[in-house]
Amino acid sequence: MKVLVIGANGQVGKHVIHKLTQSSHTPVAMVWDTKQIPQFEELGVETVLGDLEKDFKEAYYGVDGVIFAAGSGPHTGADKTILIDQEGAIKSIEYAKQFGLKRFIMLSSVRSDEPEKGPDAMKHYLYAKHRADEHLKQSGLNYTILRPGQLTNKPGTGKVALEEKLEQDGEIPREDVAETLVYLLSVPRAKQKSFDLISGSTQLEETLAY
Ligand code: NAP
Repeated sequence: MKVLVIGANGQVGKHVIHKLTQSSHTPVAMVWDTKQIPQFEELGVETVLGDLEKDFKEAYYGVDGVIFAAGSGPHTGADKTILIDQEGAIKSIEYAKQFGLKRFIMLSSVRSDEPEKGPDAMKHYLYAKHRADEHLKQSGLNYTILRPGQLTNKPGTGKVALEEKLEQDGEIPREDVAETLVYLLSVPRAKQKSFDLISGSTQLEETLAY
């Protein structure tokens, strides 16, 4: 499958591109700054320009699926959370519908399924993620939503806890999040489902296998 990675220049996004190049899939990196293009072209990865706040449907030509790994980050204001994490994600879903894509994987966040239970400082962000996730669920697309816990830059271990609902909090290396996003592309049992993800004791490939 040819997979458009939205947020390819991000910390998770770069791992996703790397994992896709090692898989049976072919990545297309979407970035929003021309300075971010050469690093991917040097890897032989097709790269397209697209700004989530503008019209970026041209990025969708010729792709079969999307991994959405973008976000406005912690250093921007509440307005950008709505414009990028919520509206940018919703626009990405709408383009996927227009182009009849086969698969849409959303990188969301722990507690985006119950934003009212999140800490006050996170509620605005969690509600924005929640609205994007709900839009995806209603879209008719073949989707999977991944809700990881606290992201770290530790090396990936490939060992995870991946469940439709986890009661405990936890961390997860960005590398393992990326590996899980790519894994979910091809797992039939993951379709139309949402999962929490933290580090655990099960080898990723053994999850959702039954
Ligand atoms: P990140 O490094 O900030 O990556 C986000 C990417 O989105 C960046 O490449 C950024 O571009 C891109 N982006 C921002 N605005 C854009 C726009 N207008 N158009 C196109 N792309 C745009 O974040 P991360 O660490 O990889 O995390 C990915 C996501 O995981 C977060 O956004 C968050 O929603 C989610 N998450 C985070 C945590 C956590 O503990 N931090 C936990 C659970 C879930 P630039 O490269 O130019 O900045």
